[in-house]
Amino acid sequence: MKFCSNCGAPVTIKVPPGDTLPRHVCDACHAIHYQNPRMVVGCIPEWEDRILLCRRAIEPRHGLWTVPAGYMENGETTFQGALRETLEEANARVEIGSLYALYNIPHIHQVYILFRARLLDTDISPGAETLEVRLFVESEIPWDRIAFASVRSTLTHYYDDRRDGEYRFHMGTIEPGPVKA
Ligand SMILES: [Zn+2]
Repeated sequence: MKFCSNCGAPVTIKVPPGDTLPRHVCDACHAIHYQNPRMVVGCIPEWEDRILLCRRAIEPRHGLWTVPAGYMENGETTFQGALRETLEEANARVEIGSLYALYNIPHIHQVYILFRARLLDTDISPGAETLEVRLFVESEIPWDRIAFASVRSTLTHYYDDRRDGEYRFHMGTIEPGPVKA
């Protein structure tokens, strides 16, 4: 950030009085522009023994597979966001179920929140940010072509839980580093 979104004057990075971290502070109107993590909300849409994955048409990780998920909007709840993203990316209608995974990704300032979900029908098709949508059984999951560590970890837990016959909530932190194959 170079200019104040409030008045257009230049901003300076400094620790405001009473604060502990450097912020973008406007030199003219003294507005403090806080930057906080963003929420990524999504779901694992289930259809019988299959799950829906989307192949990304956008960067980052163009061409790789993920569950439907995206940035939460102001004014919506986490499950409304997951529902909307699933509709936008896969033209898929789901009923959102239980909270399944929460991942902190501090180095990119994101928090992932993923739900289980029931796909209501198989009338699915790629949205504008998606190249391809498909229903996968476990043996077909493209593990070496999954876009994000958070999604790979979620799906690994998901199939472990399925084998155990009990879906548990999973929480973790993704550290920086190369994406594991
Ligand atoms: Zn200003």
